[in-house]
Amino acid sequence: MVEQVNLIIRAKMLIDGLGAPALQRGVVAIAGDKIVYVGKAAQAPEFNPHAQMIDLPNACLLPGLIDMHAHPSYYWDQPDNATYTYEAEGALVYSPLTIAMMATNKIRQALMTGITTLRDTGSVNDIMFEVRTAVRKGLIPGPRMFLCGKLITPTGGHVHYLGGLTNQADSPFGFRTAVREEIRAGADFIKLANDGQDCTQEEFDAAVDEAHRLGKKVAFHTSVPPSQRMAIDAGADTFEHGTPTQEEIDLALKKGIAWTPTLSMTHDYLKYYQDRLTHDNPRLAQFAKEQYGSTMQYIERKHASMEYALKVGMKILAGTDTFIQGIRFDALPDEIRWLTNYGATSMQAIQAATSWAAESMGWTDIGTLEPGKRADVIAVEGNPLTDIRAMDKAVLVIQEGKIVKREPNA
Ligand SMILES: [Zn+2]
Repeated sequence: MVEQVNLIIRAKMLIDGLGAPALQRGVVAIAGDKIVYVGKAAQAPEFNPHAQMIDLPNACLLPGLIDMHAHPSYYWDQPDNATYTYEAEGALVYSPLTIAMMATNKIRQALMTGITTLRDTGSVNDIMFEVRTAVRKGLIPGPRMFLCGKLITPTGGHVHYLGGLTNQADSPFGFRTAVREEIRAGADFIKLANDGQDCTQEEFDAAVDEAHRLGKKVAFHTSVPPSQRMAIDAGADTFEHGTPTQEEIDLALKKGIAWTPTLSMTHDYLKYYQDRLTHDNPRLAQFAKEQYGSTMQYIERKHASMEYALKVGMKILAGTDTFIQGIRFDALPDEIRWLTNYGATSMQAIQAATSWAAESMGWTDIGTLEPGKRADVIAVEGNPLTDIRAMDKAVLVIQEGKIVKREPNA
């Protein structure tokens, strides 16, 4: 294997994603699309002398990042007036082709940020299946994508009014049918959504059972109680957003369920409302004030949940939930930084976007720098353990052994 090495990257330091201390003067050797060696440069064996060599004396090597909660095909704009309702946007305002091109632009941005894998937690009109095909065929650049297709919600449930986004179902067998429909369309996993009590535990239990029976993991949108508890009781694999209580975190931990808190999006919203507190239009200012207040309360609860989850060793996942036009789509470094602002160590925040993310979904061939894994490797300028903002500066992105981004200084 060592003689088949065709790409060698040496850097000042190396973080393998497993939580082990960083290696000083690390090296990763790649043969084709696989990693074959990870270790200290000084202890590395002799590799193929004709292999391409990249030397990065000021950079840190990391596994390719995983965004666990993204929506490249969402096209709705940020509400910009007090009377705005998402319902008004419910009708498809862009054609599927336009949405596909917008998504194409977003996933390219994501890849250039170092996101080599993206979990799409809900797409419009199955468009992402087509976009994924184009990426797989090499027609457009983009991360490896795991897709759920449409969100499965009860009739009239969470975001039912957003055009093309939901597969609405009722009754336990209706939910089983919806799960089968998404899998038939090409889903890698299932996304269930509820807003509190808009459907029954029985329906969710059936949906999770059907997905697991067919070998698919389940992510669960939870924001309003008791949706977290329902997701955990149903045996979801990950739950998204929300502010779980200590009891819910204990239960989730026991069942091996991971949590994607989606922090950066919450703070993007907070800033958005803050900027409008002094709006000339009093109605807009009032709307902003109400939203700002409730977001602040949500953030307070989120801090408490995060503190407890980290204390008891729950696996936290890095997911951006970015979808609003105009807010950058490549926000994963922001999310990683927010995780540290909420108490995670820099190493934990990196694990949330690498090994923990992969483990939570059973993706055994990505998420770490280890021999045998797919060669998704990034380099960032500086030391992310002492300054997490280093994660903003991916100077090199390698996807399955191919260099897809290399800055002039790398
Ligand atoms: Zn989402």
